[in-house]
Amino acid sequence: MSDKQRTILNKATLKGTGLHTGKEVVITFKPAKENTGYIFRRVDLENKPEIEALAENVVETSRSTVLFRNNATVATVEHVMSAIYGMGIDNIIIEIDGPETPILDGSSKLYVQSLAKAGIKEQNEKRRYFEIDDNIIFENNGTVIKAESFDELSLEVLIDYHSTVLGKQKAVLNSSVDYISEIAPCKTFVFLKELEILLKNNQIKGGDLSNALVIVEKEFTQKEFDRIADLFNKKHQKYNGRGVLNEEYMTFENEPARHKLLDLLGDLALTGMRIKGKITAEKPGHYANTEFVKIIRKKIKEQKTNY
Ligand SMILES: [Zn+2]
Repeated sequence: MSDKQRTILNKATLKGTGLHTGKEVVITFKPAKENTGYIFRRVDLENKPEIEALAENVVETSRSTVLFRNNATVATVEHVMSAIYGMGIDNIIIEIDGPETPILDGSSKLYVQSLAKAGIKEQNEKRRYFEIDDNIIFENNGTVIKAESFDELSLEVLIDYHSTVLGKQKAVLNSSVDYISEIAPCKTFVFLKELEILLKNNQIKGGDLSNALVIVEKEFTQKEFDRIADLFNKKHQKYNGRGVLNEEYMTFENEPARHKLLDLLGDLALTGMRIKGKITAEKPGHYANTEFVKIIRKKIKEQKTNY
């Protein structure tokens, strides 16, 4: 495969609602010159401030990855960044007319479709890689992210929520796994017990039961269950015990682990470069992912000053 940089051929647009803000937004992908990297542009604000999608611009990671630069915010960047990185795009402008990317179906699938429709264009300059030489390890609160030398990007994610429904799960991405069909369609997930807390704290406005797999772990009475359906303006349905509430939206048995890998890839995109290395992440999350990427960013800057 060619090792030239890539952008998109034409522009492409998609519309949707932000999960946490509940705001309708329009995203327009535009081609970008070589060595541009990934840039968000807030077209709804005066002077259209730009926010480079780099780890040093991460300001918040509690529910999603949030970037801030030039007095402008863009929240929940991980799914769109995962699609861009997963499709091997090196340079792109992401115009957005609001503070948060749309949640769409809770995966990267629609972003991938939109970018595929725009077409991929090979550019003249060679790709830049960050190659992992010395092992890197980041540990925090039961999360461990390790990176070691390898001749391509290889990711492995392990999750364990001590959940009787999910159990322990593993997901893998390397050159023999197709990101577009195996990872991009994997939806985010939420534990039913968290939903009520999120609603109460106004943290989940654009979410309904079709853009997240809902994991039911504890026993509910039918009455409690109906009350939850009311909160989401959904029809009452029969409570079937523990499991995945909306199983009809699930594509893979280990979909939660695959989604965590999708998120990790989106956060790794914030290195601004392709990576060569084997990365293993136990219980990854946006805080650990982006702290890990900050370590890589520091190394990239050190390398630059050494030349
Ligand atoms: Zn996610």
